[in-house]
Amino acid sequence: VNRTRIDVVLAAIGLEVQRVRGTRAWVLCPFHESSSTSAFFVRRAGERAGTYHCFSCKAGGSLADLVMHVRGLAGEAGEKEARDFIRSAGKGFEPARRRVRVVAREAEISRARFSLPREIVFAPWEEWLTEPRAYLEGRGLGREEAEAFRIGYAVSGPLAGRVVVPFLDERGYPQSYSARTLVGDVPKYRTPDEREGASVDAVFGAHLWPPAAERKRCAVIATEGAIDAMSIRRILQGMPDARAVVCALNGSEPQAGQLLALATFGVVLDASDDDPAGNGAARTIRYAMGRHAEYRRLLLPADANTMLAGGDGARPRPKLLRKLIGVALTG
Ligand SMILES: [Zn+2]
Repeated sequence: VNRTRIDVVLAAIGLEVQRVRGTRAWVLCPFHESSSTSAFFVRRAGERAGTYHCFSCKAGGSLADLVMHVRGLAGEAGEKEARDFIRSAGKGFEPARRRVRVVAREAEISRARFSLPREIVFAPWEEWLTEPRAYLEGRGLGREEAEAFRIGYAVSGPLAGRVVVPFLDERGYPQSYSARTLVGDVPKYRTPDEREGASVDAVFGAHLWPPAAERKRCAVIATEGAIDAMSIRRILQGMPDARAVVCALNGSEPQAGQLLALATFGVVLDASDDDPAGNGAARTIRYAMGRHAEYRRLLLPADANTMLAGGDGARPRPKLLRKLIGVALTG
């Protein structure tokens, strides 16, 4: 979003822009006591640039009217001062005289929100195609995970023949995805291209976390892959007393934002794989947690999913998985 002259004036009078949509900058209305959602916008470009309107209290007028109101100016002299202010906005003028409510600005308003590729099919479980459904069921997973984690699949486009696991943030917005091939394509897992605008800080499972205020009494079990995280969640569902949730970091290179998210918990159970890459990740996580969270390693004799459902010639060992999780949670 290019900054316009109007944006500069709005900043100079201390009005925080909540969001910009096209030519409209949405701000909390300074003419009435408003809630957290804004019904007030200022046209920031075009023929009528600077004019404003409130859908709630019906205030409306010119940019000079707005500046006069916010800065408490009146009369002809006030009008002149407002016009002078606008002309030299941001240069040597005092901040707003009237107290103006400051609202949290949406992070990086100029950045488009990541969205999942359109070709992904999100069908009710009954309508899933055989192959993706058989894949999840073969892993000991199914409807529960498909619904809780909003898993989809693609039959066309670049992700064709893949099960797509979205990474949803704490508010449920997609931040990234991991798409596993069902037909032996390379790479086995496909993640978003940089140009798609995905976040490297995305954490799989965050949309099911408790509110931040409750997390210090709670443990998070961090795995590398989403399938392992979902497998551990299956086990946790049979442990009603366990105060623990899961997440996956999508690999063995924990990112700063992911570490910050982990540090909001009281205990971090690190289920990184027991291999050189996993042990490197474990070191990073342990150092990053420092005093923020209690760090414990959850070393498993095999992938959590292999323990849940078997595979590669190994038999399922869900009871052992449950026992090891229980021991690690007890500390
Ligand atoms: Zn209003």
